[in-house]
Amino acid sequence: MAFGEVIGQEVVKEALGRAVTVGRVCHAYLFVGPRGLGKSSVARNLAKAVNCRERGDGWEPCDVCPSCRQVDAGNHPDVRWVEPDGASIKIGQVRNLLRDAALKPFAGARRVFVISGADKLTAEAANSLLKVLEEPPTFALFVLTTAFPDAVLPTLVSRCQWVAFRPVGQEVLAAHLERELGLDPAGARLFATLSRGNPGLAREMAGSAALAQAVGLVREAMERLRASDGPGGALVAFEVAQDLEAFKVDGLEILDLLAWIYRDSLVQALEAGDGVRVGIVEAPESRQHPARLLAGLRHIEEARRRLRAHANRRLVFDVLIHKLRTAADEVIF
Ligand SMILES: [Zn+2]
Repeated sequence: MAFGEVIGQEVVKEALGRAVTVGRVCHAYLFVGPRGLGKSSVARNLAKAVNCRERGDGWEPCDVCPSCRQVDAGNHPDVRWVEPDGASIKIGQVRNLLRDAALKPFAGARRVFVISGADKLTAEAANSLLKVLEEPPTFALFVLTTAFPDAVLPTLVSRCQWVAFRPVGQEVLAAHLERELGLDPAGARLFATLSRGNPGLAREMAGSAALAQAVGLVREAMERLRASDGPGGALVAFEVAQDLEAFKVDGLEILDLLAWIYRDSLVQALEAGDGVRVGIVEAPESRQHPARLLAGLRHIEEARRRLRAHANRRLVFDVLIHKLRTAADEVIF
């Protein structure tokens, strides 16, 4: 996988790409950002780029020369990865690594040391690494990664070039998820939003059986509500309320998912472009779709508020689903 295939992170890729192209790669970088944003992928690509034999004038590694292949396979003699051994990265691990740092590269141009989870370095290990970073060996390139920069020894941080990884734009991520995982547009938008622009987390969510079950449940609930116009409608609504209320998965509240679906449908309806100013004017009959979705969203927010206030869960769902019956027709999901 090349730099260009890391999703988002344009600022990071441009800065590192420029450094590679002009031959001014630093001795030490600190990659900062939550798990899932591509820190390891970028570190791997940087290791490939500085050692690639076929890179030419550009900054992308060729991905096919023996050096690139070895980095990808994890057996390049000049590229080492260090990860926590149990709960921490210990002094012995760092000593091993530092012995090699002073040597000339075996095969490539730079010896690259990726220290994954720099916040897990023990005080001893961090101080040992610091001594080397104070006078870095000519051929060494250190990449430290962390999701918790506050927990990294401050003097170590000050020796590194800080590189911030940020959430990916949700449209960019959704488009990527559609292509990569073959998700439908609504599903791709859902995971892009719920993961807050985190590609790694979005992939995990897309593969989560519990979340898939929740999505299926809500989709089915909407279908049943749409079909519940007739005399037995109230009964159907009670059944739907019971099914949704009974759904329990750690860390996932079905109302959060429902709120997302209404919000997303509202955005879709507005983007479809009849220019209704929802919430400011009462929409006329022919343009009532966004208004009904907005009303639905308000009902869901009210239900969430009541649940937080420890109202009776079953009652909250009964009331909510009865109110949502009128808006169910407008949900695009
Ligand atoms: Zn190459």
